[in-house]
Amino acid sequence: MSDAGNWSLRSFQEAVAIVTGGASGIGAALGRELARRGARVILADRQLELATEVAHAINAAGGKAEAVELDVRDAIAFDAIVALTIERQGRLDYLFNNAGIGVGGEIREYRLDDWRDVVDVNLMGVVHGVQAAYGRMIAQGFGHIINTASVAGLLPSPFMGSYTTTKHAVVGMSRALRLEAARYGVRVSTLCPGVVRTPILTGGRFGRLGQHIDASIALKMWEDLRPIEPDDFARRALRAIGQNRGIIIIPGWWRLICWLQGTASGLFEKSVGAGLNRMAAQVMKQSAPPSRRTAAPATQSTGAHRAGS
Ligand code: NAD
Repeated sequence: MSDAGNWSLRSFQEAVAIVTGGASGIGAALGRELARRGARVILADRQLELATEVAHAINAAGGKAEAVELDVRDAIAFDAIVALTIERQGRLDYLFNNAGIGVGGEIREYRLDDWRDVVDVNLMGVVHGVQAAYGRMIAQGFGHIINTASVAGLLPSPFMGSYTTTKHAVVGMSRALRLEAARYGVRVSTLCPGVVRTPILTGGRFGRLGQHIDASIALKMWEDLRPIEPDDFARRALRAIGQNRGIIIIPGWWRLICWLQGTASGLFEKSVGAGLNRMAAQVMKQSAPPSRRTAAPATQSTGAHRAGS
C-alpha cells in the first residue's frame, strides 16, 4: 500500500473503477465520465470488441481505460478480474455492477428461460460482483459498490415481468448491503435510471423484446417516457455517487412517481400504473399482425422472441 497517507476512497481522480456492461449504453458513458474525472477504468463486458473500442476512444481523449472480457454470470471469472485489478492497481475504489438485459412480453407468455436468462445476468451477475469485491473492499477499508437497478426496481413495470422482478431484488439487496457495509467503510449505492436512450430499449445484444413486438413501435413508446442520453445520465449519476446517495433516481421527475407508488399504491395503480400498462398493451397490439389483433391472447405459450443469443 504505497500511498499510505492517501489510503481512502478517491473521488474520482486516480481512482480505480471496474464497470460491467461497459461496452455500451450507460456502462460506456459511466466509463467515459469516470475517465474524464481522472479515474482509471476497466470496462468489463461480454462484448470485448465493443468494449475495446470504447476504451480506445477514452485513451485517445487522454483518459485511462482498458477493456476485459467478462460474462457476469461466471462467478469465478468475475472474482479473477477483481483480484487481478487489485493486484495490478493496488486498490479498487469503485465497482459498477451495471451489466443487464431485458426480456419483454407478458408473464403469461414467458418460458422458464425468459426468467432464468434475466435472473442470471441482472441478479446473479450483481451478486457475483458483490461476492468478488465486497470482502476485498472490507480488507482495504474502503470502496464503493454501485449497482444499476432501474425505476423498474421501485415501480411495478408491466410487460417486463422478469426484468422488474430482478431490479426489485437488486434494490433490496443493495439497501441491505448499504446498511451492513457502512461499518466497514464500504459504500453502496443503487442507480435507478428512468429511460435512457441505449440499445436495451429494443432488446440489446443479449436480451429480447416480447413476442411479435416491433422495435420501432416500442421505441415510440419509450420516446413518450422522455428518455435522456447516456452521457447526461452518467454525469448526474457520478455527482450523486460522489455524495454517497443511497437510491439514485435519474431523471429526477421519476422520484415523484416512485413516491406516489410508495405512499399511495392504490392511487398509483389506478393512475400511472394503469397508464404504463395501457402504453405497453398498445405496443403489443400495434406490433401484432392484423390476424392477431383481435384474437384472444390467452392460449399463446411460445415465449418471448429471441433478438440476441
Ligand atoms: P445496453 O444494452 O446498452 O448495455 C448493456 C451492456 O451489458 C452491454 O454492453 C452488454 O454487452 C452487457 N452485458 C449483457 N449481458 C452481460 C453479461 N452476461 N456479462 C457481461 N456483460 C453483459 O443497455 P443499458 O441501458 O446501458 O443497460 C445498462 C444497465 O442499465 C442495465 O442493468 C439496465 O437494466 C439498466 N437500465 C437501463 C435503462 C435504460 O432505459 N436504458 C433503464 C433502467 C435501467
